[in-house]
Amino acid sequence: MHLSRFPRIRIGHMNTPLEPMPRLSAALGGPNLWIKRDDCTGLATGGNKTRKLEFLIADALEQGADIVITQGATQSNHARQTAAAAAKTGLECLILLEDRTGYTDEAYTRSGNVLLDHILGAPTRTYPGATDMAAAMEEVADELRAKGRKPYVIPGGGSNVIGALGYVNCAIELTAQANDMGLRIDHLVHATGSAGTQAGLVAGLEGMRSGIPVLGIGVRAPKERQEDSVYKLAAATAEHLGIPGAVSRDSVRANCDYVGEGYGLPTDGMIEAVALLARTEGVLLDPVYSGKGMAGLIDLCRKGEFGKGENVVFLHTGGSVGLFGYQGAFADVTPQWNGTGAGN
Ligand SMILES: *Cc1c(COP(=O)(O)O)cnc(C)c1O
Repeated sequence: MHLSRFPRIRIGHMNTPLEPMPRLSAALGGPNLWIKRDDCTGLATGGNKTRKLEFLIADALEQGADIVITQGATQSNHARQTAAAAAKTGLECLILLEDRTGYTDEAYTRSGNVLLDHILGAPTRTYPGATDMAAAMEEVADELRAKGRKPYVIPGGGSNVIGALGYVNCAIELTAQANDMGLRIDHLVHATGSAGTQAGLVAGLEGMRSGIPVLGIGVRAPKERQEDSVYKLAAATAEHLGIPGAVSRDSVRANCDYVGEGYGLPTDGMIEAVALLARTEGVLLDPVYSGKGMAGLIDLCRKGEFGKGENVVFLHTGGSVGLFGYQGAFADVTPQWNGTGAGN
């Protein structure tokens, strides 16, 4: 698989580390849990969108764009990384935010990713939940074109065949790391939303016939819909790579039992997962994606889904600055100073 055929700019810190999680593995009684640190891609606190933006921004520059437009939920990590990528490459950036949760507190509407969007120089405009955000972006793009600007529209999550190349790249990187370390990866697990991450991983891993199965833990859509959108994008990405037909439908698996009441709404499992990973490994997850993804992985470990000696890699997709938008959700896990220690 030869990605140098595609335009790419270098804005991420790569390779990201692949590390064992011995204390989490012991706390759960196995399997052997590992973590691929894509929260450490380096761009304005990092995350998975940085890999996608290496290809998307390169395409924007090749097309002569002078401004990028994208959209996401209020606490979108994708919007924040797009604002940073645009700043780094001298493009302007406009962000459309959809209010998917109805939260009105200052922390959610102003702190976390929103604060960083603004510091990075991208103005935001808020739209009510259930707005057709793709249409809203086209409207803004039309207005800009009428004024002589050259807008480049990046879909939500950066999830199209160009963005997915970033996760084909991750599939190649992860496989090479595992080969170097002599690590046999039995399962790869991560949070799946707009589908580009899983689609790129599956296209890359299947295209290389790696034999590494991927499980996406859903954060929004029900299983059927999530698997369909991942499969469609994975198949299109394989075609874009010049290996049409490389992805079979049954290589696309999602478990959407950990969404809770909806996208961006905290669950008990998410809160437990965020606290457990922080307290066993010193790693910060996020409340919307990786926290729910890890909640799923923890539950599957407890149910005995994986063999004791198996090696399971969790892809950490980033987002921890989103924690600052969800201060209230963590009140129940505030540790007590109790005279004999921290009591964790
Ligand atoms: C966007 C995002 C995801 C989901 O990736 P998709 O490619 O949209 O499926 C997972 N984790 C974090 C932290 C994200 O920001």
